[in-house]
Amino acid sequence: MKTAIITGITGQDGAYLAKLLLEKGYKVIGVTRNISKISNFRFQYLNIANAVQIVEYDLMDLSSVIKLIREYKPDEFYNLAAQSSVGQSFAQPIGTLHFNIISVLNILEGIRLMNPSTRFYQASSSEMFGKVANLPVTLQTQMHPLSPYAISKASAHWIVVNYREAYGIFACNGILFNHESFLREGNFFVKKVIRESILNRNNPGWKLQVGNLNVKRDFGYSPKFVEAMWLIIQQEKPRDLIICSGKSILLHNIVEHIFSRLNLDIKTQLLIDEKLFRPVDIEDIYGDNTESKAVLNWDYDLDFMDVLDLLIEEERRFLESSGSQWNPGNKN
Ligand code: NDP
Repeated sequence: MKTAIITGITGQDGAYLAKLLLEKGYKVIGVTRNISKISNFRFQYLNIANAVQIVEYDLMDLSSVIKLIREYKPDEFYNLAAQSSVGQSFAQPIGTLHFNIISVLNILEGIRLMNPSTRFYQASSSEMFGKVANLPVTLQTQMHPLSPYAISKASAHWIVVNYREAYGIFACNGILFNHESFLREGNFFVKKVIRESILNRNNPGWKLQVGNLNVKRDFGYSPKFVEAMWLIIQQEKPRDLIICSGKSILLHNIVEHIFSRLNLDIKTQLLIDEKLFRPVDIEDIYGDNTESKAVLNWDYDLDFMDVLDLLIEEERRFLESSGSQWNPGNKN
C-alpha cells in the first residue's frame, strides 16, 4: 500500500484528491494547521470521513515538517496548502508570500533530508503568467505575476524546479488554471454567484454584488484536475505541465448563464461594485493543454457551461436537502 501525504486536504482539491487516492488503494494522510478548527464537511460529502487520517503539523516550521516526513515516509507528497485567494493576497500580501513560499521550501528540505525518494507535487498556478503577451500560455510563456499570490506561486514554482535540478528530487509543478466544483470555498467567484443566486432566486429586490466582470479566465472542473495531479507524479521522469481547459470565458457570460438558468434578470439584479475590483487584474488568460493531454493521457474535454449546469444542480440539490445549513465561506 502506497502512502500519500496531502497538505491543504481540507480544501476543495484536497478532498477530491483524497477520494481519488483512496479509491486507488493509497493510505492517505492529510495535513492541517489546526485540527481543532477543521470542518469535516467536504470529507462527509464525499463519504471519506472515516478513511482519511488527519494530522496537525506546522508547514512553516522545518522541524515539524521533518517529523511529518520521518513519521510517515510518504511515497507521494501533494502540496495543496496555500493562501489560495488572489483577492485576499492584496489584503494580506506578507502573510501570503510568507506561507506560500516558505512552506514549500520546508517540505522540499524535509524530503531532501529525510526521504529523498518521495515524489513531490506542487499546486502551481496560472496566475504566475499574469500579464501575458501571447495566448495560449505554454511552458515557454514568460512570467509576469500581477498579485502577491501570483508572486508567491512563481517563487514556489522555481523552488520546485531548483530542488529537481540541484538534488535530483522527483519534484513536479502542475500549473493549474482556475477550476471549480461544488466544494469550492464560498468566497470564490463561481461558487459565490451560484450559491447566492439560488438562495435569492425568489427575492426580486436582491442584487448580486460583484467586481470586474470584463475579464476572461480558463475554467475547469476540480475532480478532473486532481486526476492530472496524480498522473503527473506517476510519470517516469519529473517535469512540469500545464493543466487547463484550453479556453477562456468572460466572467460576465458566466453570470449571464447562471442567471438565465435561474430566471434572474441581469439588467436589474446585477450590481457592479468598483470597491471589489482588484488593484490590477489579468485581462484574458487561457492555456494550452495539448502537451499534458498527450503526456499524461489525460482525457479532459468538458465545456465549462456544462460544468456550470452540473454545479447549479448540485448546489440546488444540496441546499434543498440541507436547508442551507452549510456556509462554505465560513469554516464552522
Ligand atoms: P483551498 O483554498 O480550498 O484550500 C487550501 C488549503 O490550504 C486550506 O484548506 C487550508 O487548509 C490550507 N491553507 C490555506 N491558507 C493557509 C495558511 N495561511 N497557512 C496554512 N495552511 C493554509 O484551495 P484549492 O483546493 O482550491 O486549491 C488547492 C491548491 O491549488 C492551492 O495551493 C491553490 O493555490 C492552488 N491552485 C488552485 C486553483 C483553483 O482554481 N482552485 C488554481 C491554481 C492553483 P487548513 O486550514 O486545513 O490548514
